Amino acid sequence: MNVILITGGAGYIGSHTCVELQERGFDVLVLDNLCNSHAESLNRVEQITGGNVRFIEGDIRDRSLLAQIFQNNAISCVVHFAGLKAVSESCELPLAYYENNVSGTITLCQTMADNGVRNLVFSSSATVYGNPASLPITEDFPLSATNPYGRSKLVIEEILADLHKADSRWNIALLRYFNPVGAHPSGLMGEDPNGIPNNLMPCVSQVAIGKRKILNVFGNDYPTSDGTGVRDYIHVQDLACGHICAIQRLDKNCGIQAWNLGVGQGHSVLDMVRAFEKVSEQPIPYEVVARRPGDIAACYADPSKARNDLGWVAKKSLEDMVSDVWRWQSQNPNGYYG
Ligand code: NAD
Ligand code: UDP
Repeated sequence: MNVILITGGAGYIGSHTCVELQERGFDVLVLDNLCNSHAESLNRVEQITGGNVRFIEGDIRDRSLLAQIFQNNAISCVVHFAGLKAVSESCELPLAYYENNVSGTITLCQTMADNGVRNLVFSSSATVYGNPASLPITEDFPLSATNPYGRSKLVIEEILADLHKADSRWNIALLRYFNPVGAHPSGLMGEDPNGIPNNLMPCVSQVAIGKRKILNVFGNDYPTSDGTGVRDYIHVQDLACGHICAIQRLDKNCGIQAWNLGVGQGHSVLDMVRAFEKVSEQPIPYEVVARRPGDIAACYADPSKARNDLGWVAKKSLEDMVSDVWRWQSQNPNGYYG
């Protein structure tokens, strides 16, 4: 059977995607260097699916390892999650981000080409839209970047477009994720950030469980309904399902295309706080502090291209997202090794 190589498959979105793939009978092989994840996430995938996950601990920049993997497995498609993703860290360590994300992707694509594998699903981000002039965002909006992380995604998208221009046998899905949140409904898998989390949801859930005293709300003077930042939060399971639809679309020779994966609805920081308080029955004390540099007021998707082309829609509600995070956080207060 054809194998799907999942780079970064031990991470947050990758591990949830492994579950959806395994449950649909795909043969999955994970390559991850565990720089931002634990192999335990894959044990949990096995626990949920009852199947075996093949895992190779290694780096996408390791050319000889990649060559060996492609020679030893009948890989038909690569779903490429591996990358560094912390915006603030990327400002401090730009070269590390370009090296890992951009060089790593080039090495991966070279090895794919050498082995005649030209089907790729790439984890892009809504960050490539920069500060959008209007909302909702469609895929044809102008692209820009405000930090090295975002620029690494933008550069990779451009490299992949050049690759397709040079060899039209490539089929490439650029999946532009909006704000992934949520956890597996079993409570066995979820987001397990290293150190102090950057993203809103892990911060909120850590306050609810008592690991952090207070939530910093970055600004309440944005031109939004309550002044706090608005984002399009999407359940990680819905996002994972989007990858299955994209893999199936690659098989129909889609060329290179971008798809927004979002719900299409914006929620403010305070909406999220209130939703979390309701589900967890815990108070979430917060303090309004200065805007976070580089943040934009509001961002949400027009997901109709994904609906029309991929037959994909996000099905989970905000309440599902929040209650699944709360279940994961309460059952695993210290993450995978709690
Ligand atoms: P994550 O950090 O949980 O997962 C990424 C995985 O890649 C980790 O397991 C890490 O160990 C692995 N990795 C990193 N560099 C590697 C390398 N050189 N070789 C092998 N493995 C490597 O992050 P995630 O939230 O699951 O994100 C997955 C992808 O989606 C990333 O590319 C990220 O930039 C992108 N993305 C994430 C979000 C988000 O908010 N979570 C939003 C938009 C896009
Ligand atoms: N946010 C916040 N406090 C935090 C983390 C985030 O107020 O501790 C806000 C942030 O300013 C933004 C929203 O929550 O308006 C989502 O931020 P996140 O970092 O999760 O996603 P991104 O900014 O990358 O879309």
